[in-house]
Amino acid sequence: MSDRQDEDTEIAAFLRGLHRRGIRDPAVLRAMELVPRALFVEPGLRRHAYDDVALPIACGQTISQPSLVAEMTEALQVTAGHRVLEVGTGSGYQAAILSHLAADVVTVDRYRSLVAEAQVRFQELGLRNVSALVADGRGGMPSRAPYDRIMVTAATREVPPALFEQLRIDGLLVAPVGDPASVQDLTRYAKGVDGISATRLCAVRFVPLLEGVSARL
Ligand code: SAH
Repeated sequence: MSDRQDEDTEIAAFLRGLHRRGIRDPAVLRAMELVPRALFVEPGLRRHAYDDVALPIACGQTISQPSLVAEMTEALQVTAGHRVLEVGTGSGYQAAILSHLAADVVTVDRYRSLVAEAQVRFQELGLRNVSALVADGRGGMPSRAPYDRIMVTAATREVPPALFEQLRIDGLLVAPVGDPASVQDLTRYAKGVDGISATRLCAVRFVPLLEGVSARL
């Protein structure tokens, strides 16, 4: 088989795996099909790109397990008119998935080098509705607010208040909330006129949401 056929077979198995793990939203499955995860992992780890595992990326960070990316995307209930903020660009994979579902995606990371690499990937894939910016995501990105949806992909004991402020009424926010050194609860928050309500979804493990923009890298 050619490399291209090998990759198609691998991606078909990858999608069947997501379906088996309960991902049913056709738009989410389609987005997962359209974004080549191989482009977002280190060249030496490409043979594992379509395995359902988290993998190390630069700056000591990780790209999440694809079934978790799909689950978080499904939980966020993104539709075509939405403006979405992601905190924790990492490789850019999650933002690329969101860009196929939303009108507009803003993603921020505290590492300049991760943001620069993600921008190159978005360009290579021709994704024009996603921008990666360097910022401390604990403050959100007020210049682009308000957001219909916010996803945090780093562990935090509490959702930073700025994120709730930048979320529209009727907006949803998904974040791993709990002890960054152990296990967190993936939690979905809904903002209504009377305040915020929270639903716990499942147990997850993320790298911590750290303070400030990195001085190096
Ligand atoms: N969503 C990513 C994986 C996220 S890993 C992907 O699809 O590949 C968590 C990311 O959060 C890391 O890249 C880390 O640098 C970033 N991060 C941690 N603290 C942050 C902060 N305060 N502001 C912005 N990004 C932060």
